Amino acid sequence: MIEQTLAIIKPDGVARNLIGEIIHRIETSGLKIQAMKMVQLSVKQAEGFYAVHRDKPFFPSLTSFMSEGPVVLMILSGENAIQKWRDLMGATDPAKAVPGTIRREFGQSIERNTTHGSDAPETAAFETAYFFGGMERL
Ligand code: ATP
Ligand code: MG
Repeated sequence: MIEQTLAIIKPDGVARNLIGEIIHRIETSGLKIQAMKMVQLSVKQAEGFYAVHRDKPFFPSLTSFMSEGPVVLMILSGENAIQKWRDLMGATDPAKAVPGTIRREFGQSIERNTTHGSDAPETAAFETAYFFGGMERL
């Protein structure tokens, strides 16, 4: 099934000049970058994006991290795009991620793990609409 997913290069990835490396991995995987922009999120925008985690102990730290510097936001599309992008990223905790994955290679901690990916069709729909307008999501 052709899907869309939201990918983010988090502030730790942008700050360490990993944009090109990560985009190269996306393009060689066969996924298409359908929309892309670089922005710095406000704390409020990060809180809205991660609202499902608002009761977690790491929420204040996570939303502060996500707004500390610019991020690259992308809509990726392709066959099984949601799972494919999560496979390229690897597990949330870089220490537990499979060797060769983005988070294993570049993640610094369970929080500063370099990339984000939607985890289901419903979250992908919410997340792409959170950051992109209708014309960009066609
Ligand atoms: P993401 O949603 O960013 O793609 P994920 O789906 O693998 O990651 P979630 O459980 O949704 O993981 O957590 C969202 C983000 O919150 C993680 O990517 C990470 O940056 C941070 N996070 C998750 N668990 C922890 C934790 N125990 N301590 C600190 N930060 C955490
Ligand atoms: Mg998640």
